Amino acid sequence: MERHAKYPLSLTNSLSGHKEVFVPINTGHVGMYVCGPTVYNDVHLGNVRTFLCFDIISRYLRYQGYKVRYVRNITDVGHLENDADEGEDKIAKKARLEELEPMEVVKHYTDGFHTVLNQFNILPPSIEPSATGHIVEQIELTKRLIDAGLAYETNGSVYFDVLAYNEKHHYGILSGRVVEELMESGRQLDSQDEKRNKVDFALWKKASPYHIMRWPSPWGEGFPGWHLECTVMSTKYLGETFDIHGGGMDLKFPHHECEIAQAVGANGKTPVNYWIHSNMLTVNGQKMSKSLGNSFLPSELISGNHPLLQKGYSPMTIRFFMLQSHYSSTLDFSNEALQAAEKGFRKLANALTIIKKLTHPGGTAENDEVNKNFNQLIDDLHLEMSDDFNTAKTLAVLFEMSARINDLKSGNLAFNKVGEVEFNQFKASYIAFMEDVLGLKEEQEQNHELLHGVIQVLIDLRKKARQDKNFALSDKIRDDLKRIGVQLKDGKEGEIEFSIES
Ligand SMILES: [Zn+2]
Repeated sequence: MERHAKYPLSLTNSLSGHKEVFVPINTGHVGMYVCGPTVYNDVHLGNVRTFLCFDIISRYLRYQGYKVRYVRNITDVGHLENDADEGEDKIAKKARLEELEPMEVVKHYTDGFHTVLNQFNILPPSIEPSATGHIVEQIELTKRLIDAGLAYETNGSVYFDVLAYNEKHHYGILSGRVVEELMESGRQLDSQDEKRNKVDFALWKKASPYHIMRWPSPWGEGFPGWHLECTVMSTKYLGETFDIHGGGMDLKFPHHECEIAQAVGANGKTPVNYWIHSNMLTVNGQKMSKSLGNSFLPSELISGNHPLLQKGYSPMTIRFFMLQSHYSSTLDFSNEALQAAEKGFRKLANALTIIKKLTHPGGTAENDEVNKNFNQLIDDLHLEMSDDFNTAKTLAVLFEMSARINDLKSGNLAFNKVGEVEFNQFKASYIAFMEDVLGLKEEQEQNHELLHGVIQVLIDLRKKARQDKNFALSDKIRDDLKRIGVQLKDGKEGEIEFSIES
């Protein structure tokens, strides 16, 4: 039996606001689309959290036995400043400021995005399409919406007619926004005179004479609106209705609401069965934002090079830290919480190293209680993850398992108390949940840090021996270290430095 049948998955659907049992459209297959980054600046930590959340989801779906097609796009055109229909294209602006071709900006930040995600062991999607690679399809979709009477052209730009759509369908179905209220609120924008209604949004924008990123269209030279690409690429690779659509909570409105309207308007079908939104980051209880000066880049969090950080943390510590919160809750950064995460991760990683080396001597269990407990822990891992991908509770189960692992190693728990079969399942589950499901791997740096700590202890002992005029001992420490490749050198002001032969 596949794992997804044994441990049915339930997830919180943003569309209904309820936890629902997950039933894919095609048995054994899952199609998932996640809105990717707009590649005009360095990836921020909020992005890392969002993509980590969907990394976990795709990893667990695969572990459950589903064949997953995971599509995550690259937005390389059409995303205007302030997420609006007016203003400069984010990428074109960066290109102008840095005197680069827009595609140089796109390449640079796409590479950076991949490097950072790779550092955090976030696996690549199955398909990573870009908006500029799908201009033809975006023009086609715009034409279909015009033909359906749901879009209109004004002065070379095309807008989606929200009021016309809302007569037959429900604009606000995902975000809970009410069209009438939206009509009354909000700022008056420059393009207002081009739009029939204030709530309408751009499908295609006319390019001004100095706009670099432009393509020919039936309405003259221009570029696509931001919401259009996701409808086009998700439908192209996953079909008119697919299983899961994800993204950060800030994309729910207007971006995802507009995606639904475009798809329903063009195809007459609900595009997505389950919407999943990941929550935001806070720092010491405050929203993380550039303007508040409390946002740090992933590289700053790793190096510790930021006024708010006491030290740096390894990518796996940060990954572990993020998994301690449920994806739908806010996640708060503080030095204390990060330091606690460092200890916590080390504990689980040590147990991982230990259990890989442990083997059962063979035979069945002599203690039914212990055996039951081992089976229960294996079950709990699956049940917690199947309950809306609850990584926090899954980690709690792994901690309990790590205690058993340490007991087995120390001899506090005799191997014959548990059966060989149960032990092997326990071992396989611990390794699979750490490495495959949660993507937590043993880190070199961790051992490195430990090694440096141990050498420092020996250096201090040697110093003490010299002060006590115990030269026999101080020489022995130096010579023994040298034999295993650690060279001690007398540095300035009596400090002792060391180097390790590799
Ligand atoms: Zn999107």
